[in-house]
Amino acid sequence: MKAYKRLTIGLLTLQGDFERHRHQLELLGAGSRDVRLPSDLESLDGLIIPGGESTTMSILMDRFDLRRPLLAFARRHPVYGTCAGMIMLAKNIENNISGVKPLGLLDIDVDRNGYGRQIYSFEDELEVHLNGLPKKIKAAFIRAPRITRLGKGVQVLADYRKEPVFVRQNNILASSFHTELGDDMTVIKYFADNFFS
Ligand code: GLN
Repeated sequence: MKAYKRLTIGLLTLQGDFERHRHQLELLGAGSRDVRLPSDLESLDGLIIPGGESTTMSILMDRFDLRRPLLAFARRHPVYGTCAGMIMLAKNIENNISGVKPLGLLDIDVDRNGYGRQIYSFEDELEVHLNGLPKKIKAAFIRAPRITRLGKGVQVLADYRKEPVFVRQNNILASSFHTELGDDMTVIKYFADNFFS
């Protein structure tokens, strides 16, 4: 039994789909805490930025003065972003007409809603490669961002239709799809097992 209960992971609860992440952390036996204010980051071990709407997230991040504290936190702690969370972690956003300001912690560029209107949202199986081992998981793409540029230091953990959709750069983990909606705990376990020493 791993000592997950030693971990307390923050959930950025400005907006979006954070309850399912909380549920998965509970199933794992890890603690969680809502993060809305800079002081909420104190003594956390890591952070999850959920899916949702990056436009709103970006605005609220500034309104709550969270941007600088989040950047400082991410220098020393693991951060995992799903979907809108991945958009917020990216370096650049293509055709950024809504003026979302990403954190720039992960050396990728993204196209918001890059999977297009026709396939707005869908679920499919894909193969993740975690610690060298392939494993099939179900992935939910919900108005998902597409990675359009991959920096040199970014490791690809899964492709979908020959494009990267799940990536890691040092202490930053990001997926264009949701990993928290079903019963599969593969990704949250990978995060908890490999990002905290
Ligand atoms: N399309 C949304 C955005 O741009 C992300 C969707 C999601 O997080 N499921 O922020």
